[in-house]
Amino acid sequence: EACLGAIEGAGALNAFVHKTPEIAMERARAADARLKGGDDAPAMCGIPVGIKDLFCTKGVESQAASGILGNFKPEYESTVSQNLADAGAVMLGKLNMDEFAMGSSNETSVYGDAVNPWKVDDRQLTPGGSSGGSASAVAADLCLAATGTDTGGSIRQPAAFTGTVGIKPTYGRCSRWGIIAFASSLDQAGPMTKNVRDAAIMLETMCSHDPKDSTSADIPVPHFEAMLTGDIKGKVIGIPKEYRMDGMPAEIEKLWADGTEMLKDAGAKIIDISLPHTKYALPAYYVIAPAEASSNLARYDGVRYGHRAKLAAGEGIVDMYEKTRAEGFGHEVQRRVMVGTYVLSAGFYDAYYNRARKVRALIKRDFDEAFDQGVDAILTPATPSAAFGLGEMAEADPVQMYLNDVFTVTVNLAGLPGISVPAGLDKQGLPLGLQLIGRPWEEGDLLNVAYALE
Ligand code: GLN
Repeated sequence: EACLGAIEGAGALNAFVHKTPEIAMERARAADARLKGGDDAPAMCGIPVGIKDLFCTKGVESQAASGILGNFKPEYESTVSQNLADAGAVMLGKLNMDEFAMGSSNETSVYGDAVNPWKVDDRQLTPGGSSGGSASAVAADLCLAATGTDTGGSIRQPAAFTGTVGIKPTYGRCSRWGIIAFASSLDQAGPMTKNVRDAAIMLETMCSHDPKDSTSADIPVPHFEAMLTGDIKGKVIGIPKEYRMDGMPAEIEKLWADGTEMLKDAGAKIIDISLPHTKYALPAYYVIAPAEASSNLARYDGVRYGHRAKLAAGEGIVDMYEKTRAEGFGHEVQRRVMVGTYVLSAGFYDAYYNRARKVRALIKRDFDEAFDQGVDAILTPATPSAAFGLGEMAEADPVQMYLNDVFTVTVNLAGLPGISVPAGLDKQGLPLGLQLIGRPWEEGDLLNVAYALE
């Protein structure tokens, strides 16, 4: 009830875009009975959470913040939100995001911008994207935790912009079943929380092997919370020189240096490493992600879901497809579909898509080599800046927006786990985050290093 009240009072943040108070109260009562009934209720039992609009929730609007899925209410529940519900978590509603999770500022949403609860004077700031509503809701105490998804940084960047914790697990840890697809070889779900301990608890609840997702891994899910000892003595932390970009703001440099010092003081061994193909990650990502998106989004044809354009007399099925997609998709989504179909087209497939796939393999190999050298985790800044003002990044120059993902996309291309932890404030008093990248399937160790940094 406190959370539902807080949501009502925080309409200006535009974080919750579909509220589900009846479901919340029903699940809260069930959780209450479960907690009273025995002592072995799961840790998430009774915890009020928000669910990103990208997750299908049975009978509840699930629109991926897109006009093309207007009023779509799925007949089924995503595996991740089902796992949370089974553990007794209480869904409060659906959270704002960039349309189809494409964006870094939550400005491409059909519901309008989500707003960061952090402010500088009267300037309205982005909570980041695409999981902007999730980050904003957690930071403003509208819920105790939220689900996010991360294809190129959409959990970690908004976490950094709002002073919250966000982890993208290893590709295959969380089932993608029932999560509206953006770029299937990169998409992963993960928790957005107030601290590392909550992230460990929630991640464990979200993960499972799921035969309904062929890329879901059949490996045991550890008890992550029990791995938070804070002891990182002897752990080897790599500092990749390629992440020291030209023109990096001095405060980001300092944040990174301070974080390195903190881990060293806690007993970690710090070594310099090289990930030589880093500079090709962003271009490779912005070929592969749109390619997969153009294919995934082909299903929105005006027949099976949501919006269908009205036709004039004499117009046929091709007009229907064209008009529906022109009306239903926003500009950024249309841009991605065009880039994606272009790089997959017969004449350009080898030059772009295949080339990007090869680069992706090299990026993964860079990480493998660092881990082979004994590196346990890699420390980098999470974002190149603190939260920027809503409307300040020109739509005319999408590459400027894409540069936000420069530190995060490598992790998705390599399928690795990555976490963003709050690491201090910039000179305007806005939160900044540090990113830790871990070995595949070792989220427990990664969370423990993050715990030492927190
Ligand atoms: N900002 C990136 C993009 O627009 C990442 C999005 C994401 O992780 N979902 O593609």
